[in-house]
Amino acid sequence: MERSIPCLALVIPCYNEEAGLPHVMGTLDGLLVSLKRDGLLRDDSFVLYVDDGSRDGTWRMIEERNLHNPHSRGLKLAGNVGHQNALLAGMLEIRDEVDCLISMDADLQDDIHVIPVMLERYAEGCEIVYGVRKDRRSDTLFKRCTAGFFYGLMKQIGVRVVPQHADYRLVSRIVLEALAQYGETNLFLRGIFPSMGFSSAVVAYERKERQHGKSKYPLRRMLAFAWQGITSFSGLPLRLAGLCSLSALLLALLLSLLSLLTWARGETVSGWASLMIAVLFLGSVQLFCITLIGEYLAKIYAEVKRRPRYIVEKKR
Ligand code: UDP
Ligand code: MG
Repeated sequence: MERSIPCLALVIPCYNEEAGLPHVMGTLDGLLVSLKRDGLLRDDSFVLYVDDGSRDGTWRMIEERNLHNPHSRGLKLAGNVGHQNALLAGMLEIRDEVDCLISMDADLQDDIHVIPVMLERYAEGCEIVYGVRKDRRSDTLFKRCTAGFFYGLMKQIGVRVVPQHADYRLVSRIVLEALAQYGETNLFLRGIFPSMGFSSAVVAYERKERQHGKSKYPLRRMLAFAWQGITSFSGLPLRLAGLCSLSALLLALLLSLLSLLTWARGETVSGWASLMIAVLFLGSVQLFCITLIGEYLAKIYAEVKRRPRYIVEKKR
């Protein structure tokens, strides 16, 4: 299926990005101009910067840019809702205006030179095109190991994710319409898109290092995000808790058997220590199970409240 030249939006979530934004805006404006000149994009294609409640001059810069260039637009959220929700806001707010959109971070870590390839795949009929990192050379060893472990684990527990893919992707309008039907508060877009089942393609690229500003994903947020991914898509950890308690039960049975044997042989039970170990072990397993249930309960609590996932304050 060949499609006509699309109206595209680049959707860029920004949180305290004033340090790098002028460079990013210059680069993306230039990119759009050249893609339009090459006949790959319709003239009304644009960039949408979503200000995720930044506390620096990010929104001022977005507004100023819009004054000079109507194809550089902005969406200001009332407060910080996090990368995933900011992205969702951008995508849902413009879904009636575009044929497709590409989401990417505001730090140009994702190579913009593969965008023509993404558009090619779109023209061939793909509804989703995933940007996939060729390697993780630009990451620390720690991030590489944890990311590898995370993707492996997701696969093991049966969650469909595209390995080494973050949120650099092209999605078509029909996918956006589908996305609008997902009402969940605990959002993990990397799991949602592959689970939809549209025809998709993968485009490999080299990820660069962040040139301006700091990463907004320190270890704590990264772990929270990974946990979100697992618990939003799989109930397996809950069942794992059951497995844990079963093994603890078996262990306790074994220990009792052993101490019975020593008692039968008339040896004094020097078992205070082992008893304590058993009690502590069981206690910790129980606490673990309760915590796990609590985690899911908290998620359900957040879902049933049905609060808005983002609030738009201004549009430019
Ligand atoms: N971001 C956001 N809201 C947040 C945190 C981050 O919109 O609460 C944006 C941020 O401005 C960037 C993108 O999400 O455009 C990814 O963040 P970052 O580059 O810091 O993450 P990393 O690439 O280090 O994982
Ligand atoms: Mg980044």
